[in-house]
Formats: sequence, structure tokens, C-alpha cells
Amino acid sequence: MENAFHGDFFPRFWPETAGSARNRQWQQSNCALKRLLNHHRPLLEKAVATAETIRRGIDELIHAMEALRRRTCRFCPEPCCITNTVWFDFRDLLAMHLLDELIPFRQAAAESGEPCPFLGHHGCRLPWRMRPWMCLKYICPAQRALMKKDGRPDPAGLGDQIIKIEDQRFQMETEVIARIRRGRTSPSSFSPAWRQ
Ligand code: SF4
Repeated sequence: MENAFHGDFFPRFWPETAGSARNRQWQQSNCALKRLLNHHRPLLEKAVATAETIRRGIDELIHAMEALRRRTCRFCPEPCCITNTVWFDFRDLLAMHLLDELIPFRQAAAESGEPCPFLGHHGCRLPWRMRPWMCLKYICPAQRALMKKDGRPDPAGLGDQIIKIEDQRFQMETEVIARIRRGRTSPSSFSPAWRQ
């Protein structure tokens, strides 16, 4: 199905489908966020750089997390993708929009008691980079026990890396909000209205 909101100024959604009214509302909200960020983009270079650092950090994290998941998820009696409610938070979306990445076509949160809508027969259908941070950083009790059994409570400095990324996500959000606020209260060279 054609992506209803595709265009240079709009985000592209994955997969390209509009879906239900609720999903369309999500897509429209993301279009509004994208427009706002694009409008202030000349002020957001630092935030974009932080988003790139976050992405690199997540790429480094993924290898170790995936190794852990390969050893636990298939045997899990209560998969967290079924029992937990997760969602894309504002910082997830900020990073995706700042980096002009594909945006998931819907929010992850399903109704209470329903499995995550992105869960497929072979696990999460979302590419790693598109998953909610709360999924990416989650180390379940079975994985913690496994790490302890291996005698390596934190094999790749996972905890430190997760805290570092948490901090960077906070910095990125703070930077965006501060820049947009400043852009709105002071004359700016990129706003045609203010140039007159
Ligand atoms: S987004 Fe993916 S990893 Fe996160 S709960 Fe849903 S299926 Fe699981």
C-alpha cells in the first residue's frame, strides 16, 4: 500500500502502510514532529551529532545483547515481548527523525494483555535500529543469571554502555527542546518571517 505521508518533508514509515485510524493518528503525530524538527534543523546540528553517537553506541551494544538473547529467548516460558507492554518514547522518535530514518508505522504498545504487534514467529520483526530503547536495553532475569553463571556479570561492560546511552538520549532531548525554545523566542536567520 502506498505510504500516505511520503514526501521530502515527511517521514517514511515502515512498512509502508497506513493501517487503522489509531495508526494514522500515530503517523500524523510523527509528521507533525518531523515538520517541527525540519523547521528548526539549522539549529539542531549538535542534537543530530548526539543522535549519531547514540546510534553508534546501540550498534556496539547489539552484538553482545544478541549473543545473550540467542542463549535465552527460544527457551523462555514467559517471553517479555508477550507479557510486557513496551512503547516508543519521545527520545526514540527524536533520534529516528533527526537521523531521517524510517519510522515504525505504529506505536508498539498494544492493548493490555496482548503481545507486542511487532512480534513475529521468529522474534521481533523490527530491524534492531528501529526497536524501542526499552527493548534494546532490557536484560531479563534469565540473562542476568546466565551472565552470573558464566562468571562474567557484565561481559561487555553492558551496564556502563547502557547508562552512557541513557545519558546521551537525555542530552539529545534537552538540546532539541532548548534550541527550539530559543528559536521561537529570538530572531533567526532561517525564518523568512523574521528576516523581513
Ligand atoms: S518491539 Fe520487538 S523486541 Fe520490543 S517487545 Fe515488540 S517484538 Fe519484542
